[in-house]
Amino acid sequence: MTRNTSIPFTVSKDDNFFDRLGDYIGDVFYDILPEQGFELRDEQIYMAFQLEQAFKNKHTIFAEAGVGTGKTLVYLLYAICYARYKGKPAIISCADETLIEQLVKKGGDIEKLEKALGLEVDVRLAKARENYVCIKKLNPLAEITADEDILSVHDEIPDFVFDTSAVMKSFERYGDRKEYPWVSDEKWEKIAWDPLQQCATCDWRHRSGQTLNREFYRHAQDIIICSHDFYMEHVWTKESRKREGQLPLLPEASSVVFDEGHLLEVAAQKGLTYRFNFENLTNVLTGYMGQDVREESLLLVEDILALNDEWFELLGETAVAVEGSDRQDIPRTDKMVDMARRLNKMVQQLLEQLVFDAELFTMDEYHTKIIEEYLEFFSYGLTILLKDDQGIYWIEENETTTSLVVMPRLVEDVLKKEVFSRDIPFVFSSATLAQGGDFTYLADSLGINSFDSFSVASPFDYEANMKLIGHVEQNPALKWEKIGEQLRANQGHTLVLFSSEKEMNQFRNWADNQEWAFRMLYEGEYEISATVRKFQKEEPAVLCSHNLWEGLDVPGEALTQVIISSLPFPPKDPVFQAKRKHANDPTMEVDAPYMLLRLRQGIGRLIRTTNDHGVIQLWMTEEDKALYQKKIDDVLPVEMNW
Ligand code: SF4
Repeated sequence: MTRNTSIPFTVSKDDNFFDRLGDYIGDVFYDILPEQGFELRDEQIYMAFQLEQAFKNKHTIFAEAGVGTGKTLVYLLYAICYARYKGKPAIISCADETLIEQLVKKGGDIEKLEKALGLEVDVRLAKARENYVCIKKLNPLAEITADEDILSVHDEIPDFVFDTSAVMKSFERYGDRKEYPWVSDEKWEKIAWDPLQQCATCDWRHRSGQTLNREFYRHAQDIIICSHDFYMEHVWTKESRKREGQLPLLPEASSVVFDEGHLLEVAAQKGLTYRFNFENLTNVLTGYMGQDVREESLLLVEDILALNDEWFELLGETAVAVEGSDRQDIPRTDKMVDMARRLNKMVQQLLEQLVFDAELFTMDEYHTKIIEEYLEFFSYGLTILLKDDQGIYWIEENETTTSLVVMPRLVEDVLKKEVFSRDIPFVFSSATLAQGGDFTYLADSLGINSFDSFSVASPFDYEANMKLIGHVEQNPALKWEKIGEQLRANQGHTLVLFSSEKEMNQFRNWADNQEWAFRMLYEGEYEISATVRKFQKEEPAVLCSHNLWEGLDVPGEALTQVIISSLPFPPKDPVFQAKRKHANDPTMEVDAPYMLLRLRQGIGRLIRTTNDHGVIQLWMTEEDKALYQKKIDDVLPVEMNW
């Protein structure tokens, strides 16, 4: 079947595209959508007019629009029309994989647009690598495990993957986390791609689910939807992939929309993360020693390996556990810095020697490239670590290995250069972008100098439909009892939001010993969109989550109560520790803005349509109340009762 991918209105050669687009958008919002039963919303029309200017002038725009303004329909329509006009897809970057699914789910905004406007939208998903099964991990594990969940995944892998005589033509896409909803997060980690996998040199790569999915989404004509993490990975790896003769992760885009754009900075930092485990350098350099290299190079490699051993040993010995995080801080001692500096210098020398070795034809080109790439990567990470106050670094340990993780503290310069200097429209859309009506905090942190912006409030009648009740409790055991009473009084139908996975598990330990007349669902038990579907369909139920502060869209009676178990302060991890360290007043400059933004997002989960109603139960400690009550009151849609 051929798809109709033409612009949904006529543009003659004397017409200006944007004039015709403006007419079409006017028809859509004033006539076509209301005729199809959609409410005519002034906020939507105002937003449409603002976006038109941004697309016309190829500007960056911050579109802060409250829940229920229908902002997604507006940006989708512009993104699709502009993609067809330019002949390049739009990229829609969402905060995480759950939000990706929300856009494309049955009855979601894309399907609504298709039905109402008679459009066929070619939309494809570009998910982060962790979302695909890794055959290199799954295959050996399936040989030894008795775990039924994992064996069932193995059974579902198509035959061509293991049949080396199969021809490329018969390769179909497979391997998306969503295809295996029965697998818990914990088990998924054992069989999914992880940062230690080297796909470029993997024998399975042509048959890997990840590769086949990438090949598919790359050819989208209208929209590619990815997560912020993936978009940033694309940005940071674009050049090195080109150098290695690979295509960038994403194709050239006509425009980029960042949905929940307030979360982009952290994604950018994560994307620029350098992760080294002790064995990686050893493996790469041992491979090098196996080549026909000169004596001088061999001696240098031996010195590097010895120093790398010593350095990792020191990192392990001095690392300090961070409470509330699985990361360990590394103290910046003179000894550590000195060793890192020496290591970096030697790696630089080796890079120079490599040029000689390659020129002498003692090494093949492919191997030289891989070693060079890795050494440059290693050296770049060390450079960030060595620059005073520029890097954030920590240690992570699992059963098999110790990894050193390094990320830059500030990303604005690199974002300015690599992303926002491009001459295309960038749209930031979220219900929470500004702080006290000001967008500069966000713009500065992302390196955006010039931008348009607007805010439109939610059209919902919160006074009539939402109650907000504040509670103070110091003792967790008593708090769980009282939350239990709130769940029973509402007969389920509740989303419980926790500040961390640890807090959710503490509640679970208590809740597992109670009797419930409704289903208790926990994030991580199954694939996340399957969990959300269960919550929505299997009434009555309670959904406990530490991540669904953003984007969860469950209208109707399935969700009539949101319980916020504690104020959502930022995690105590090195990223936020570094932000705190560089702030004059860490509580008010780092903790409070993050918490207030997340709180607004969490509260936004309750009322999703004009008919929705319910109650927000907000729990906090006595100290939190004393410190933040005034600030919290300022951002609430209705007055809080105690
Ligand atoms: S290409 Fe990467 S994800 Fe695929 S099997 Fe190989 S290592 Fe795993």
